Amino acid sequence: MNGQMAGAVPVFLGLGSNQGDRLAHLRDAVASLMAHPRLSVTACSRIWETEHVGPDVQDPYLNACVAVATDLPPLELLDTLKGLEAAAGRQPDGHRRPRPIDLDILLYGEQVIREGRLTVPHPQWRERAFVLEPLAEIAGARPCPESNETIGQVCAKIRRKGGPWVRPYDGEALCGGQGLNDEGVLPGQDQAREQGGRGCYPGATSSSKA
Ligand code: ADP
Ligand code: MG
Repeated sequence: MNGQMAGAVPVFLGLGSNQGDRLAHLRDAVASLMAHPRLSVTACSRIWETEHVGPDVQDPYLNACVAVATDLPPLELLDTLKGLEAAAGRQPDGHRRPRPIDLDILLYGEQVIREGRLTVPHPQWRERAFVLEPLAEIAGARPCPESNETIGQVCAKIRRKGGPWVRPYDGEALCGGQGLNDEGVLPGQDQAREQGGRGCYPGATSSSKA
């Protein structure tokens, strides 16, 4: 997308992959978002490697968040993301199954949406470190819809509580580190990283690019 869109809304998307070449799937998704005529990618988090959350055993994910500005209404944006998932080979009945790419709408401006097929903020996002850690990197100061906390505060709470492991992934940047400072992290994240070491959660050890 080039130039400014009238009426563009700031939207935060969650990306995840735990099947095939995970890094390539994340990168392809970001490239597709950047190429879309009605989307402008404005910031990218770092990439995180995270434990699968669910009753079954699955391979770890790579997760990230991107900020976009778009004039697509919420359901059109959802359809666009579903189209990108399908193009990456995701099966339509793939809920709770390993997936090459999962693209979720985490926040759509300040809106609270409860449609049949779209819930925003995304369900359970406040409980999930794999969403909150990358999201806090690019939106830590934003207020959460439906509460008087910032996203950074909610993330800090989950970090204290612990849970499934999440850790920064030692790969190349997802999209050039926009939104991050010169050291690749947002101001305020450095201290958290020092306190938590390489992994901020119990069980997190060094990450690899296997
Ligand atoms: P999950 O992301 O929870 O693993 P899926 O990606 O399989 O689940 O999506 C299942 C359905 O969730 C989608 O068909 C979509 O209609 C619905 N959905 C509800 N809210 C959202 C949202 N905020 N972002 C993306 N999908 C959503
Ligand atoms: Mg999804």
